[in-house]
Formats: sequence, structure tokens, C-alpha cells
Amino acid sequence: MSRLETKLIHAGEPEPRIHGSVSMPIFQSATFEYTDEMDYHSLKYIRLNNTPNHVALHQKLAASENAKAALVTASGMAAISTALLTILSAGDHLLVQDCLYGGTHGFITKDLGDFGMTYSFINADDPDSWKRQLRPKTRGIYVETMSNPLLQVPDLRAVVEFAKAHGLVSLIDNTFASPVNFRPSEWGFDLSLHSCTKYLNGHSDIVAGAVIGRDDLVQNIKHRLDHLGGSLDPHAAFLLHRGMKTLAVRVKFQNESTLTIARFLKDHSAVARVHDPGLETHHRHARARELFDGFGGVVSFELKGGVEQAQQFMRRTTVPISAPSLGGVETLITRPVTTSHSGMSSEDRQRLGISDRLIRLSVGIEATEDIIQDFGQALATV
Ligand code: PLP
Repeated sequence: MSRLETKLIHAGEPEPRIHGSVSMPIFQSATFEYTDEMDYHSLKYIRLNNTPNHVALHQKLAASENAKAALVTASGMAAISTALLTILSAGDHLLVQDCLYGGTHGFITKDLGDFGMTYSFINADDPDSWKRQLRPKTRGIYVETMSNPLLQVPDLRAVVEFAKAHGLVSLIDNTFASPVNFRPSEWGFDLSLHSCTKYLNGHSDIVAGAVIGRDDLVQNIKHRLDHLGGSLDPHAAFLLHRGMKTLAVRVKFQNESTLTIARFLKDHSAVARVHDPGLETHHRHARARELFDGFGGVVSFELKGGVEQAQQFMRRTTVPISAPSLGGVETLITRPVTTSHSGMSSEDRQRLGISDRLIRLSVGIEATEDIIQDFGQALATV
């Protein structure tokens, strides 16, 4: 069972099948009969992340990235915060990419300090500058595969090499790429983090997260999660399990559709700028080609004109739903300044190039032609 498409269907399924059930049943039971477990973390209990629904998902998630182990969590932020609060102890320091998902940025800049941890932002595209930022207690380096919302592609090979050279744990938020387009373990990353709310589930109907990677680290993070309590409910686990089975077909379609829409936008006279690593004009297109099997389902762009034009365009489109989040079957459109990045100061946003007029599109699985037709009519009127 070596190919991703097959593993997404069959990895982690119980053997033998439970009463022959083709689909994984939901074990909606908080606790399970005691069977002589010798330690607290092995007792079967939903919060201890070890019900049959959790175990099956852990195997499927690990298999999806060719990794040794995985842990499902109650949200993407639970995966990110619990992983960081495990890797770092009071007094430790983290190197972190400067352009990040707003929630992660908020956690690092506003919460880590309360635990006695410090961080330095790095330009993830400039490995030569990282050494200057190292401190004796630097423990980790954290990046996103494709940054939210500007789709920057860090020098991921250099991140792994740097981490190995300096004894750091390398962490990557792989939400935007999904295991279809990038599998961090194959490139030497220690930990991959996901908001499974996005592509892995794919149907905009649950919030969930995952930590995938080195077995020893995943086990330590599980123990901390057992205590912090961010475990996924079995019903949501069932939905994620079901969603993962169609991950490959969804994402491959979204890769194609997004690139076609990005090309349409790039060539349109009302559009000022398009950010998509699949476009030859993206300044790290060559790197993205080398690293990724596809360029993902998110494109961000700016129209000529200001915020008013952007809003007008969004109001006039009829196919996308104006909502934050991404990675579902429905096309979603948002201005990050009002949603995903509203918690970031305007100075930080400006410095990073996240303008007020920037629009982020998460392409669903509707017909590509319908989205292009819709955008054509909306652009004609702004
Ligand atoms: N990482 C990225 C790249 C995201 O876009 C998000 C949410 O938008 C998260 C993490 C957080 O995930 P969740 O909302 O599932 O906690």
C-alpha cells in the first residue's frame, strides 16, 4: 500500500473490520472497560486520545505523510499550541517565520511570553540571516509550507538543514499544502502541524487539528494534550476520517482549478497583483516546483483601486461565499485584514505586505468555468 490515494482509503482501518463494517463506526463512549492498563495515559478515555476512532485516525494521518506517528487534536490551534508548549520550556527561545496565520502569530506574540518563552521572527527566505538570531536556549524553528495569506514559499530545505546543524526541532504548518502536495517527513522535518478543519476534512463542518511526525515527539505532545485537554470528540473524528478518504481527489482538482483561476486573474486588466506559487511569475516558483506535487487551492490577489473596489468585487461575485477559513468544497472569499489577520497590528501587516485591499480565495470543487465566468462579470463592474 504505497500510494497516497490508497493509503487515504485503507490505512488505519480496523482489522478485522468491526462486525464487517466498511465504514469506521463512531465509538461515542467517554470511557471504556478497564483492562489492566498500567498507567494513566493508557486508560481508554476520550480525553486521553486513544479511543478506536482516535487510533484509526492517528494511523491514517501518519500514513498520509509517510511519517512514524500522528496525533489528532480538537483544532489546528490546539495542535500548534500544544506542540509548542511541549517542545519549549520556560526560558526557551523559538525562531519563527515572520508571516504566519493570524492565530499562530497571536499565540506566539501574545501568549508564549506568559509561559516564560521568547521568540525571534526570521525572514524564512534568507537562511544566511538565521544564525544571527540563534540564542543558547533556541529549541525550535517554525515555518508554514505556503504562508497565509501571501503564499510565500520558505527555503524549506534550508530550514531542515539549519535545524539539524543546530539541534533544533523543525516544525512546519502544512495546512495549506495538505499531504497531497507536500509531506514534511519525507524532507526531514520533525513535526508537521495541520488545521484539519481545512483540506484534511474538506467539508467546512468540523474544527480539528493534527500533529504528524517523529514518534518520540508525538508521544510527548500526546501526554501534554492529555493534560491540556484539547482532544477531538469521536463524532468529529468520524467526520475527519470520512473526509480524509476523498482528500486526494479534492486537492488535485483544487490544484488545477486554482491555477486556472490565478492565470485568468493575472491576465485581467482590473487586477494589480496575484500571489500563487504555481504562476511562473511567483518569485519562488522554481522552489515550489521542486518541493511540491501541486500548488494548492488558495490564491490571493489585489485589484487596481482600493478597499472599496475589493469590497464591490466581493459583493458582486455569486459563486464564492464570503467567509473566513479555507480548504472546503465550497469556494470561500475573504479579505484577510477583516478576518484571519485582523488580530495583527496594521504596522505588522504593512511590513509583511498584507494590504487592506488583499483578497484571499480558497477554491472549492465547483466547476472552474463557473467561477471564472462569475469573476469576469464581477470584475467588469468594479
Ligand atoms: N494554520 C493555518 C495555516 C490556518 O489557516 C488556520 C486557521 O485558519 C490554523 C492553523 C488554525 O486552525 P483551527 O482554526 O482549526 O484552529
